[in-house]
Amino acid sequence: MRTANNVQSIEITDSNHQIPNKSPIPIVQTDDQVLVRLPRGFSLQQLGHDSRKSARFRFDREEDSLESPAMTFSNSSILVLFLTASCSTPVLCIGEVNKAEQIAPGVYFHEGDLKGHGHCNNGWIIFEDYVLVVDGNFPSGALEIIPKIKAITDKPIRFAFDTHHHGDHAYGNQVWVENGAVPVAHTGVIDEMKKYETGYYGGKPGRWEDTAKNRLDVAASKLKPPTLLYNKDMIFDDGKHRVELLHFGVAHTHGDGFAWLPKEKILFTGDACVNGPYNYMGDGDSKQWIKTLAAAKKLGAQTICPGHGPMGAAQVLDDQQSFFVELRKEVKKYAGRKPEEVMAAVGESKAALLKHKPIARYVGDFFTAQVEKVYVEMGGKPFQPQSALIDLRKQHAHEHGKELVKGEDPRSKPQDPEKLQHQSSK
Ligand SMILES: [Zn+2]
Repeated sequence: MRTANNVQSIEITDSNHQIPNKSPIPIVQTDDQVLVRLPRGFSLQQLGHDSRKSARFRFDREEDSLESPAMTFSNSSILVLFLTASCSTPVLCIGEVNKAEQIAPGVYFHEGDLKGHGHCNNGWIIFEDYVLVVDGNFPSGALEIIPKIKAITDKPIRFAFDTHHHGDHAYGNQVWVENGAVPVAHTGVIDEMKKYETGYYGGKPGRWEDTAKNRLDVAASKLKPPTLLYNKDMIFDDGKHRVELLHFGVAHTHGDGFAWLPKEKILFTGDACVNGPYNYMGDGDSKQWIKTLAAAKKLGAQTICPGHGPMGAAQVLDDQQSFFVELRKEVKKYAGRKPEEVMAAVGESKAALLKHKPIARYVGDFFTAQVEKVYVEMGGKPFQPQSALIDLRKQHAHEHGKELVKGEDPRSKPQDPEKLQHQSSK
């Protein structure tokens, strides 16, 4: 068992040998109890632990998943669990959607409601004099978490760090400003905004205007590019907490920032690392993304708070990187072939990647678009006519909360996939 303040990790041994490696997962220690949230997909069949019978043992489930139990043990318990995996694609995870989780003293993680509202994940760190929030989210996402922060602390929210320029991470900036915070980002975020937010910079309508057609929360707010910028890094340190805002190069975008907490060994990655099938690759570069993740891995983080999907251990960073390595290997087999041949082989490529258990959870609806992106990076021509576009539309619908098609939620209007066709703000 490793320890970093009160965030630790334990190793789960898969007695069915379906998990290739021992998978460390983070645990959260509070007073006299230890919360262990098991990887999604695990069922508890064998638990070599006395507290299974004790009254303090608690077993509950994440609301949106029947296979993501959490357990509470007494702190003195021996934390060696022998579990049986019932699912071949484990997702290292902790926490639940829309719930603020304290992951270290004064450090919180909040998994956003991606399915329902297109929200990204957030984090916040309570310093002696102020609160630093990780990620601006959509306006409705910012409004979702501000009361949660205020319920925990009366320190003013002073800074909102955009991990990148995408709408679900930066369009909430105006809301943060109205609540007293300054939006902070790597300079690359401004470069990206100048590229895509042409409406704001005096040109033709850009992504904000497109998104505003489909989201009431965006329509009711306005674009606020970050005003406090860093080139190399920016450090917040009050002697107790230290947060380093970093940048390691191109990944998901050309301006990906990371928030690194060296004392707690917690890394907030934005969408440079996600935990699930959420990789939008349109604004990035897969080859450089792999290098950027390699640099991030050198930090030695033990807890990864991804841009989307549940929080996990260091392995999430490994798996995210492996996904791109394997994807590129797979697409490389078809380099030099005609686009239609590559397109026709997407099913095979998908099957090949799904065989790699640690990365299978990254393979999802956007796979065709991901293959196309890598193929184009390797010198190929875009697919014709539209197969990847269908995936892109799905991507965008997903981002903007397609599940709200009935339009019941005042914060996000129903989505029209046709309108989203040319829109690329994820
Ligand atoms: Zn993004």
